[in-house]
Amino acid sequence: MHVPTFIERKRDGFAHERAEIEEFVRGFTSGDIPEYQAGAWAMAVFFRGLDAAETGHLTRAMMNSGRVLQYPPGTPPKVDKHSTGGVGDTISLILAPLLACDELWVPMISGRGLGITGGTLDKLESIPGFNVSLSEQQALAQLAKLGVVMIGQTADICPADKKLYALRDVTATVPSQPLIVASIMSKKLAESLDRLVLDVKFGSGAFMKTRDEAVSLATSLEAVGREMGVEVSHLLSPMNEPLGGSAGNALEVAEVVECLHGGGPPDKVKLTLDLAVKVSKTERATFARWLNDGTAWRKFVAMVEAQDGDASALERLTEIHRAPIIRDFPAPRSGRLIKLDAGCIGRACVALGAGRAKATDSIDFAVGCNRFKKVGTQVERGEPLLQIHARNEATLAIALRLIEPAVAIS
Ligand code: URA
Ligand code: CA
Repeated sequence: MHVPTFIERKRDGFAHERAEIEEFVRGFTSGDIPEYQAGAWAMAVFFRGLDAAETGHLTRAMMNSGRVLQYPPGTPPKVDKHSTGGVGDTISLILAPLLACDELWVPMISGRGLGITGGTLDKLESIPGFNVSLSEQQALAQLAKLGVVMIGQTADICPADKKLYALRDVTATVPSQPLIVASIMSKKLAESLDRLVLDVKFGSGAFMKTRDEAVSLATSLEAVGREMGVEVSHLLSPMNEPLGGSAGNALEVAEVVECLHGGGPPDKVKLTLDLAVKVSKTERATFARWLNDGTAWRKFVAMVEAQDGDASALERLTEIHRAPIIRDFPAPRSGRLIKLDAGCIGRACVALGAGRAKATDSIDFAVGCNRFKKVGTQVERGEPLLQIHARNEATLAIALRLIEPAVAIS
């Protein structure tokens, strides 16, 4: 295949054929096609888009870049949830063990942080020892034992997304609807699911800024899923303020622990339950009870241990990952908080080191923001609106500049 011609065709607005998409995905996954060409192609797709047929071809080619999970006959229904990405969106870590308390298997394949949105894999790795790179065989053995496994794209499973995801993160090609669809659905289809619920975010802290864009993304995601025989449903969730009270890897996992102890921010608990009942016939009240009585917590602990994580670290994660600088951000005046912009907070978290600026960057688990006041709250001048966790004064200063315009008080 002549790759410059392939890129040129998309740059000039032509449609790709199935065979050339397959060849491109194969070449990129094997390393024969270099990243600079894949990056140029991703940017062409960002501007030109892919039609429904091309999106389907890309999704299937990416799914088939690795192994597709196969289950023994007679095993429970396989279900999962995926979010299109938000700020403080830690739901997967709560929901996966919660669903596994039901008669369900949850073979969750997630991603790392992408753009300003946090990633499930990075959050899980803030738990010392936690291994997100299981083989297919190990994943299946854990499902049989616990009903839940949380892993990443590997050399085995969805290697094309592993590479393309990292490339998009650092080439400003994340918010492209067809690339999001292919990325999400290639992972989810590799799980051979019976049912999938999608949490489609819209707002300043999401890739889709408007509700209309989110509806269009949901329609496209569902079309690809249905075509492959998966029962797909979705929720549309606003992402104008961060979800819950924390953004940042260890800070968010600390909040997961609270939720699994029956506490945690009400908006996070509500969304978890809203999503749970979309893929299960079990009553909402039963899921709520499993959060409150320790059932889901015990499942989470068992999963952490099964994946080599140190479960004894879970309740002291913010001590293990403690940023040297913890600073309140005070309300500039008294009144009602009418805006705490998730996009600004997300950018601040990346600047603090919670996300990546280039593919080889490592994540600083300790940094981020927490103790968010929720929009609608009455605040006094000088009262903290949130807390910033920074590694040094330089990144703190950048974060402060990014957070200032995030706030509006009426
Ligand atoms: N989540 C994914 O897995 N991929 C995307 O492209 C966006 C969100
Ligand atoms: Ca089970």
